[in-house]
Amino acid sequence: MSLRILYRRIPRDKRICNYYGCQRRILRNIDRDKEGRIYHHGCLMAAQDEHFRCLDCYRTFDATEGSFETVQVQRQDEFREKLIMICPNCGSHNLKRLSPFGGSNSHVQV
Ligand SMILES: [Zn+2]
Ligand SMILES: [Zn+2]
Repeated sequence: MSLRILYRRIPRDKRICNYYGCQRRILRNIDRDKEGRIYHHGCLMAAQDEHFRCLDCYRTFDATEGSFETVQVQRQDEFREKLIMICPNCGSHNLKRLSPFGGSNSHVQV
């Protein structure tokens, strides 16, 4: 199926990029992963380059495979919804971002 068809199939307000760092409406350069979730082409490339390891079940996955959970965070006086990534295998939040350059042990900040 041509990607062009996606523009007609998916209503404009549902055409939201699935990359957690983006979440913006897709007006052009639509692309999709093997699960059929839609992204901007550039966001899909970025997501596939981001690798994570679950520290509970040791599964590794990229950002297109991760699952997300919405949590409420309080910032000053307002509550905002924030997406956090969870392991697609066991649902743990205990993830580590794998740096392509090796080294960094930073925890996942989404
Ligand atoms: Zn995007
Ligand atoms: Zn896990």
